[in-house]
Amino acid sequence: VEVPFLDLKSQCQVLKAELAPQFDEVLSSAAFIQGPQVARFEEAFARYCGTKHAIGVANGTDALHLALRALGVGPGDEVITAANTFVATTEAITAAGASVVLVDMDPASYTIDPNQVEAAITPRTRAVIPVHLYGQPAEMDAIMDIARRRGLRVIEDACQAHGAWYKGHRAGSIGDVGCFSFYPGKNLGAYGDAGGVTTNDDEIAARLRLLANHGSKVKYQHEIEGFNSRLDTLQAVVLNAKLARLDAWNDARRARAAQYAAALERSGVTTQRVVNSDHVWHLYVIQTEARDAMIEALKARGIATGIHYPYPVHLTPAYAYLGKGPGSYPHAERAAARILSLPMFPELTEEQADYVAKAIREAVAEVATPEQVPV
Ligand SMILES: *Cc1c(COP(=O)(O)O)cnc(C)c1O
Repeated sequence: VEVPFLDLKSQCQVLKAELAPQFDEVLSSAAFIQGPQVARFEEAFARYCGTKHAIGVANGTDALHLALRALGVGPGDEVITAANTFVATTEAITAAGASVVLVDMDPASYTIDPNQVEAAITPRTRAVIPVHLYGQPAEMDAIMDIARRRGLRVIEDACQAHGAWYKGHRAGSIGDVGCFSFYPGKNLGAYGDAGGVTTNDDEIAARLRLLANHGSKVKYQHEIEGFNSRLDTLQAVVLNAKLARLDAWNDARRARAAQYAAALERSGVTTQRVVNSDHVWHLYVIQTEARDAMIEALKARGIATGIHYPYPVHLTPAYAYLGKGPGSYPHAERAAARILSLPMFPELTEEQADYVAKAIREAVAEVATPEQVPV
């Protein structure tokens, strides 16, 4: 038996017939940039997220970078985010000219700890970027409350949380802006790089459009110095087709996640609890003491796994300059040493998930350390 970590090919097969004539249409029109399908996707995605605007950009990293700039965040400003994120979040802060300030995660949810956010605020703090890691929204009520009291902007990194809900609001519709990646492996993924920003604010939206398109609304009239970061037409065609299926695909992920959770109860590995919100399971992450042995045991049974992420941001060479050594963010560091991402994608079958869970139980028995013996 082979269980892949992720399967992008089946969705391509399913969509092939639907997409082929639409690709042909784009090729015939040659409207590769800013074709009508881009605006159609932006409208549909805004409606889906429950926001007034959605602006297509080139990728999720640009979404974060340009969102910071649109909010006026730049040199001299500090931006707070979680130590346990993908480096794109912190790269975007630096790209905007601001300083990265990391804080620890909440060990129950893997999302940023609001108390740590509050403690890290200085007179230079301008914004906070909660990351809806693995598909579960961060504790947004607490974060929005801190932001309002302390005058901070909130940029949601929703790159792993397309379609997730937080107390009746979609991820990306709660802060000043929501940032999305449509990287192929994300819950809503293009056939290449793509990204988007959501907001309810007309001015921020207008500024984002300028920034993403060389500072111009009208060709060759450059109001500000901008960037080239656009969602191209072929990607918009793919995203329109996939958006119509996103809720069903997220439901399929939820079904497999519920199955994993039930099957791994008292197995000796720790599963993720859904803390305060609806989760779209971009990743299904367990924790285990003997991770390397577990990876090998699963591999021997044909099961592929991943680690998201093996190093917290501050312990990567790229961020050594922050001067935050081991011990700086203990929850993020402990998680990084123990987390393991199991196969998770909408087409994962009940039988495959069952096989994975059984394999984990067998592996625990093989590699058991005293801490892992089921109680
Ligand atoms: C994928 C991702 C990004 C960056 O998206 P790209 O489209 O790859 O630039 C940012 N933040 C998080 C949490 C992500 O998972």
